[in-house]
Amino acid sequence: MNRRRKIYEGKAKILYEGPEAGTLIQHFKDDATANNAEKKDQFDGKGVLNNRISEYLFTRLSEIGVPTHFIRSMNMREQLIKEVEIIPLEVVVRNIAAGTICKRLGVEEGKPLPRSIIEFYYKNDELGDPLIAEEHITAFGWANPQEIDDIMSLAIRINDYLCGLFTGIGIQVVDFKLEFGRHFQGDIMRIILADEISPDSCRLWDIDTNESLDKDKFRKDEGGLIEAYQEVARRLGILSDNERVITKGPVLVK
Ligand code: UDP
Repeated sequence: MNRRRKIYEGKAKILYEGPEAGTLIQHFKDDATANNAEKKDQFDGKGVLNNRISEYLFTRLSEIGVPTHFIRSMNMREQLIKEVEIIPLEVVVRNIAAGTICKRLGVEEGKPLPRSIIEFYYKNDELGDPLIAEEHITAFGWANPQEIDDIMSLAIRINDYLCGLFTGIGIQVVDFKLEFGRHFQGDIMRIILADEISPDSCRLWDIDTNESLDKDKFRKDEGGLIEAYQEVARRLGILSDNERVITKGPVLVK
């Protein structure tokens, strides 16, 4: 039985009230959705893998000075995080053309972009997360110019770090989505990285074969999603060769 208060349930994660004020528990589900939840399925163990991968990447990023919401691991599927005021933007960083940019701009899939591109989408499921410009963000007050600058410089640092890390393990970072939040400490507010970075929110291609090691396995009905996520975890060194992800329910926080 789960006695904690649920704060929010999204497509792939649940947020529960945390043990101390200003904290939340982020729980990773096995559910997968695509095309704004038109397509749905469940993959046994996906939440465990995403929790581990995201926890690993957030820890590495905080070591290079990127402020994040991650506090500590709680169990296989859950992590303790700082409560933030989420900025309603999906910040997409692209290095290689794939997904919606190909359809929108007629760019050939797999083509390296002339330079990395940062795009903003308005986080709103009813509207299907539309692509927006900085003008919309400031006009509607979703973030101010200083906050947009902070977000852009963090996104560039994160991209540089992830590209280096993944290149070293034979993976190209094609694109990924970030979310940021406002973290308040007394009178001081700062923008920190929130949400997750996992194969659910990234396109990761094997350098030699161009095979997708991410949620495109599901979007394109290719099969082998768990094996792909496990391969990412294994190459990152966070899943040993013989380890199987145990997918029993989470351990309750007392
Ligand atoms: N993405 C995401 N959540 C979304 C939309 C996109 O995590 O709601 C990620 C997606 O996994 C990919 C990148 O952002 O790594 C760019 O996605 P794209 O705009 O091509 O849209 P998609 O093909 O995911 O609909």
